[in-house]
Amino acid sequence: MWCFHNSAAVHLERLFSFVPADYIQKRRRCFCSMPTMKISELFSQEKPVVSFEVFPPKPDSPFETVLEAVEALHVLRPDFISVTYGAGGSTHSKTLELAQHIKNELGIEALAHLTCISSSDEEIEKILDEIADRNLENILALRGDPPKDCHKQINKIHACNLIERIAARKKFFIAAAAYPEGHPEASSQEEDLLHLKEKVDAGAGLLITQIAFDNDYLKRFHEKALQHGINVPITAGIMPVFSASQIKHISGLCGATLPPALQNMMEKYSHNQDALQSAGIEYACRQIDDLVSYGFAGIHIYTMNRPLLARAILTGTNLR
Ligand code: FAD
Repeated sequence: MWCFHNSAAVHLERLFSFVPADYIQKRRRCFCSMPTMKISELFSQEKPVVSFEVFPPKPDSPFETVLEAVEALHVLRPDFISVTYGAGGSTHSKTLELAQHIKNELGIEALAHLTCISSSDEEIEKILDEIADRNLENILALRGDPPKDCHKQINKIHACNLIERIAARKKFFIAAAAYPEGHPEASSQEEDLLHLKEKVDAGAGLLITQIAFDNDYLKRFHEKALQHGINVPITAGIMPVFSASQIKHISGLCGATLPPALQNMMEKYSHNQDALQSAGIEYACRQIDDLVSYGFAGIHIYTMNRPLLARAILTGTNLR
């Protein structure tokens, strides 16, 4: 079990001066070995579910490199925090260690990502055992992408196969990924929606969308999902713009369209990083308020382990 880093706590109390001084320590004492809770229960509340995505440290970096960010994020009291997974599988224990820390030490429900593209059935079974042993109950089941520098075998497999395997254990709540603009490999959005329905039929009870910067895609996708009989909650993935080059890179990787308003904004503030961040946060806030009014069950903030961005978004929207 991970030990809380006192110097991080002191730093956080300064950063989050609106939080009572002993808040972090008290929360930790209350939530050690928190009972298991399926994320589905959160979606019975009337207000939108707010979740954050974080990533674990790189394989050769110590746990402390992300701890401070995660501690700062938990103070913002998201409903759950998801932890990404390296598709090569080499970082799986860091993903699980961080998810366990978030749940059992910080008292926030955790959603552990898990990919299957380069893991054997036996490896997946072992990881599922480990997830259960760590008192984790919620899994975002993904196929993943072939890792560039991985010499392991790449499986001809889809997320629905992993979902079936996890569902067979009758122990975990399963979430899956959804693509408002269609997955880049799919020949059409229609084909992608049919495969999305397969994931839900296999046992996924929550869909988290890929990053989208244009709400029209998200809304049309929501409508089409309903038309395809997809009735599980859908939470919209939002990433605030913080650096023009990084956002262009990320949108290229995941196939998210950058609408003209966003491109103009990045152009306008191309020489002023602070102004770009402020405008990016404002853009994300307006996106979120619009999506909540539309009826999305939740908002998933891709935090990039940057608590100040997440905090600015919560302050600037009607989410809290
Ligand atoms: P699938 O659902 O298998 O879909 C992949 C493609 O195959 C799609 O084109 C789909 O239409 C098609 N397909 C699906 N089922 C079938 C079928 N039965 N027959 C034929 N075709 C089919 N990657 C990571 O490595 N680590 C992470 O932590 C991570 N987290 C993510 C979180 C979210 C919210 C999202 C949206 C993505 C995340 N990814 C992550 C990226 C993800 O792994 C990639 O987008 C990957 O290419 C697809 O994964 P998937 O689970 O959606 O795959």
